[in-house]
Amino acid sequence: MDTVSNAVHYVFLAAAACFVIGLHLMNHPRTARRGNTLSAGAMAVAIGATAWLVVHQDRISSTGWLVLVSGGVLGAALGLWAAREVRMTAMPQLVSLFNAVGGGAAALIAVNDLLQAENPAGLGARVSLPGALGIAIGTVTFSGSLIAAGKLQGVVSGAPVVFPGVRLLNVLLPGAFVAGTVWLVLAPDSRTALYGLAAVALLFGVTMVLPIGGADMPVVIALLNAFTGSAVAMTGFVLDETALIVAGMLVSSSGGILTKLMADAMNRSIANIVIGGFGTGDSAPTATGSGTPVQVRSVSADDVAILLAYASKVIFVPGYGLAAAQAQHELGDLAELLADQGIDVSYAVHPVAGRMPGHMNVLLAEANVPYTQLKEMDEVNPEFPQADVALVIGANDVTNPIARRPGNAISGMPILDVDKAKSVVVIKRSMGHGYAGIDNELYTDPKTGMFFTDAKKGLSELKAAVAEFVG
Ligand code: NDP
Repeated sequence: MDTVSNAVHYVFLAAAACFVIGLHLMNHPRTARRGNTLSAGAMAVAIGATAWLVVHQDRISSTGWLVLVSGGVLGAALGLWAAREVRMTAMPQLVSLFNAVGGGAAALIAVNDLLQAENPAGLGARVSLPGALGIAIGTVTFSGSLIAAGKLQGVVSGAPVVFPGVRLLNVLLPGAFVAGTVWLVLAPDSRTALYGLAAVALLFGVTMVLPIGGADMPVVIALLNAFTGSAVAMTGFVLDETALIVAGMLVSSSGGILTKLMADAMNRSIANIVIGGFGTGDSAPTATGSGTPVQVRSVSADDVAILLAYASKVIFVPGYGLAAAQAQHELGDLAELLADQGIDVSYAVHPVAGRMPGHMNVLLAEANVPYTQLKEMDEVNPEFPQADVALVIGANDVTNPIARRPGNAISGMPILDVDKAKSVVVIKRSMGHGYAGIDNELYTDPKTGMFFTDAKKGLSELKAAVAEFVG
């Protein structure tokens, strides 16, 4: 190995170390931004080092450079634009699209490598195995992530989509998928195996994600993210690129851990989800269901202000509606006002509240909420019986007591025990459903008052009313 190649490998090693440290820093909201910058910086350096190596080894034609640079500029510009412009509530769709792009790119690189090999028939398993796996996993991730993004965006029905013959397809396709992968490993020169595997994997991604109902979506997003990482790592093996292998494995393993955490939060086993458990047991969810007419107690800002002002302990329960209304700053202000009156305030964060893992933590960090006031579900649930008021802001499914009973879309999902608080106030605009599309029994509980309003407007009114009350 010459000096430049040697130096580049040390750069890759340093970049890999920075990825790991960056991930570690993301453990806490206070250091997460630094972790992100460190990892992104390391990736930029790794890309620069790769370009240096390519120039040094004169491995690329001038047309190749043109394609590479224009692709890089276009991709970076699109990525930057999407990241800056996307609404916080549309972030999960964006993550899904990024997963699709990552998986698709990994699969295309593996396809190209097999097609361009000088002696494809002579490729050993060291290349043909990761090549075939890169194509298989990358392609499934591509089509599956596109369907997931479509579901989250409302372009594809969020309800489990089931059509005649889907059961048979779901038995045949995984079989064909495994057989195609093995065939390509054994016969990397076979075009039929290559194109056949790509076609089967494309279809498998679609039929795997289409039948998934609303409640399982967080697990699916995390799983597809792990798949993207695996596909990228496989491509790294094919290209013999250390940085790709390390980055891919880190995404794969952290995505895998996230999948496990999400599955635990939804009380589903990963095996059950992967092997045909997708969508089973879900009712058809409608993202904006209107709900059946029921008797509820409606309250005003003044009613809630009095409740809050006399409370000793208040627990805020944020959900997707808080993100949709972008009301995190108003919530932070109200909490600060109450804390100034000596009231014990905290925020109950459910692991799947909102529309992406960590959604509520990101929102509340944006409003500079003290981290000491954020409480995870297991920590806060025993505290609800002591809370004078549980103030639910745009959360629905994660508070629905029906989850404790079998036979519905969210059965078995651990919930925040809001109904155990001494009194409950829910801020939302209507009796509309949450993501799982079912009625919430909390709203008809006699101790619950419904404050029907947009979260941002309602919280501002509440803050003004509390300020006036406490004088
Ligand atoms: P939900 O989706 O259950 O409910 C959100 C509620 O917010 C709705 O009922 C809606 O009622 C209300 N809302 C919407 N806009 C506003 C607004 N401007 N002001 C006030 N309220 C508003 O949210 P949860 O956070 O409780 O639950 C998350 C759900 O999303 C779970 O089912 C979870 O499985 C799923 N999910 C989670 C993902 C994740 O990774 N976190 C990913 C994908 C899905 P109304 O229209 O009446 O105002």
